[in-house]
Amino acid sequence: MSDTIEVGDAAAEPGELATGYIDGVELTTGDSIDIPVLVLNGVEDGPTALLFSTQHGKELQGTEVVHELMHRELSPESVAGAVVAIPVANPLAFMHATYRSWIDNRDVGYVSVENPAGNTTERLANAIWTEAWSEADLVLNFHCNDHPDSLYFQIIEPTEETEPDLERAAEAFGVTTIRKDDRVDQGPSPAGAGGVPTLSNKGAAEGIPELMVEFIDGRYLDETSLRVGVDGTLDVLREFDLLDGEPSEGPQDDVTLVPCKYTGGTGVNRAHGMLRNDHGGLLYPTQPTGEFVEAGEVVADVVDLHGERIEQVEMPEDGYLWAYAGAQQFATSGAMQTIESGGKVVYAFTHEDEA
Ligand SMILES: [Zn+2]
Repeated sequence: MSDTIEVGDAAAEPGELATGYIDGVELTTGDSIDIPVLVLNGVEDGPTALLFSTQHGKELQGTEVVHELMHRELSPESVAGAVVAIPVANPLAFMHATYRSWIDNRDVGYVSVENPAGNTTERLANAIWTEAWSEADLVLNFHCNDHPDSLYFQIIEPTEETEPDLERAAEAFGVTTIRKDDRVDQGPSPAGAGGVPTLSNKGAAEGIPELMVEFIDGRYLDETSLRVGVDGTLDVLREFDLLDGEPSEGPQDDVTLVPCKYTGGTGVNRAHGMLRNDHGGLLYPTQPTGEFVEAGEVVADVVDLHGERIEQVEMPEDGYLWAYAGAQQFATSGAMQTIESGGKVVYAFTHEDEA
């Protein structure tokens, strides 16, 4: 028999779904901004999965995925183990529909989790780490790109320890998979590549696998993101024996896919990074996402405010695009189809065939 699980002030006995809040921070008014949490404690013992959404406050799709899973698809009778869900991980960002905390322009996923007496956003990160992330056996971290023509995809960044679990999770979720190998190559330092013990970095160092999933069209709820999120998560929970049954075979239906060895093909997709521009103006995408683009092909035009096309941004190497972004605006990336010098034109990745 499993024990009572407490996360923040939510306490679920075996066989219960409890809701509550993790203590967050106070505004100048003294009003508390706390982190909502749901705890579903299965009747049977098993691992703990954390469903984590909306670290970026304008990325809404994962919130609905969490609601659907916790209230309709899952039940304490069907789950072996526990599912803890944080539907809005940065309420400071969410309340102003900004990417980061409006109060200090920080990202709760990119600050240290080790400073309970630190700055405002560090306190939120510490609370999430202490109450939820550090206790999980598996994390699904839900994000969204802004534009409807973006690709549904997932990123895995394994360590030697988490690699087998992350490969299983990616195959079960079944959308385009992009792999980053920094942690395998360099080892899982708690401070990570950026020198900061973030949720992801410290989690990886402690052997907690994290599957990062990106939905599309983040500002408005839509049926496809809901279906992709619910179906993918249920298959991951089956793969890790929190639910009975086998995950469905192969990638998800009816979503654009760039195959790799985890989803419907061979070889590996690897992140290239952001393509940037030199001139400011309006951003005009010229390629569909998820289709092969040759090195040197134009991926976007920049048009100045007089209406002249002043720049063409080119693909630096053979590969694919996953999402057009746009200008950086008031703690929000990709808010409008405009762009400043050095802005975010488009995210690109490559496909590497295996020998
Ligand atoms: Zn995000």
